[in-house]
Amino acid sequence: MTSESPTSDGGLVLRFWGVRGSTPVSGSSYAEFGGSTPCLEVRCGERMFLIDAGSGLYNCGQHHRDALPKQVDLLFSHLHLDHTSGLPFFKPAIFDAERTLNTYCGNLDGASAEEALGRLFAPPLFPVTLDVLPCTMRHHGFRAGEPLTFPDGTRVDTILLNHPQGSVGYRFEHGGKRLCVISDIEHTDPWPDPALLDFVRDADLMVYDGMFTDCEYPTCRGWGHSTWQKGVELAKAAGVKALAIIHLHPCHSDTLLHSVEADMQAEMPSAFIARERQSVLVGAPVEAPAGAPRPSEAIEPLALARIA
Ligand SMILES: [Zn+2]
Ligand SMILES: [Zn+2]
Repeated sequence: MTSESPTSDGGLVLRFWGVRGSTPVSGSSYAEFGGSTPCLEVRCGERMFLIDAGSGLYNCGQHHRDALPKQVDLLFSHLHLDHTSGLPFFKPAIFDAERTLNTYCGNLDGASAEEALGRLFAPPLFPVTLDVLPCTMRHHGFRAGEPLTFPDGTRVDTILLNHPQGSVGYRFEHGGKRLCVISDIEHTDPWPDPALLDFVRDADLMVYDGMFTDCEYPTCRGWGHSTWQKGVELAKAAGVKALAIIHLHPCHSDTLLHSVEADMQAEMPSAFIARERQSVLVGAPVEAPAGAPRPSEAIEPLALARIA
């Protein structure tokens, strides 16, 4: 943790570039919460980290363009398609010979993402292989649970999460504030898991995989995802101050998510469902989105098709 105050260097800031789980969606039903798959930008002062390379990474690249750092650090939660499919379209980084893209992967017993990404981004699945791109790519493997220490001394803590093939949760501390990103995860029984409880304790903001509601979960058990209710339970037990739900189900429209958010805020007023492009100063009150419609009638959860 550094000693700067949040006001001296911009603080600890999180921006959501993609919050949809499993597959991108589009259309007017998704205009507010967004349709891009997971990609988060974390700023510790000027220092940038990216978490996951879902389809939201495209908009992140287009937004920053030349302002991207020369060294881009991309931390993977895991390598499922919804967390990797944006990588070949991260043009400002990968088409620039002056840039280095460092990937970090912690759910493969210490192996890096290199082999898996190489298989994915090769003909006939994709016309361009990653090794012919102009940028320098360095792929780092670690074991979830080990802290990551970067050349500038920045430290990020990690934890293994319950998900098919595993997934990695991350904890950032900066300017006296703490941010935990816990996705993808399926909650366990009993809950909360003691190690996870310790990991997220006293976080100013926890980002959590709330793909389902409790009502939907029984038919989705074992798919690797959790519910907002389990997120609230974990947050309250661990003294977490604010909660952001991501990995939104592709069937969940803006209207449904407003209803879900209202239910959640009745239990934890500082909890919210993340919106694509939303930016949050960790530790500051999260402002309610302007003009958000409140549904006038209860909405039935949609029947869910199985999505890996
Ligand atoms: Zn996912
Ligand atoms: Zn996954």
